[in-house]
Amino acid sequence: MPAIATTSSLNDYPRLSISSYLEQLRITQPDSLPVSYKHKGKHHSYNIELAKTSCNYGNYRYWFLCPSCSKRTGVLYCAGSYVCRHCIGASYHSQLQQPVDRIYTKLNALRERLGWQVGVIHGIGERPKGMHHSTYERLLVEYEQLINKLIRTFY
Ligand SMILES: [Zn+2]
Repeated sequence: MPAIATTSSLNDYPRLSISSYLEQLRITQPDSLPVSYKHKGKHHSYNIELAKTSCNYGNYRYWFLCPSCSKRTGVLYCAGSYVCRHCIGASYHSQLQQPVDRIYTKLNALRERLGWQVGVIHGIGERPKGMHHSTYERLLVEYEQLINKLIRTFY
């Protein structure tokens, strides 16, 4: 369940919530918020741009502007530098794509092309109707190589 994995993993990141700065923002009305922290022994210090939108009674609602995608967000997450949940989600998923996952992805793509059942790794299927013998042979070789790669990652 990728959705659940993403949610629980977000809790593992240090977060910065705009709500914890409301008092300070109301008084100083800054355009950006300086952050200073240590990540893996390296010191980081920079400003995060802010945006404000007006709400009732002439008040403002403050937002962070994600340093990566510039979208408005109330919470930033840190995996080296602070970004919004979409940006950290994207990097989390690419980190998650381990070599084994990439092999599975390729295997499934190949099985789909061959018209074989996707999601299982065993069993070599028939040559699809209309596919050239040479293409089929080539794809079989490719398939064998991926299976061997997969086996090597396990042993
Ligand atoms: Zn972002």
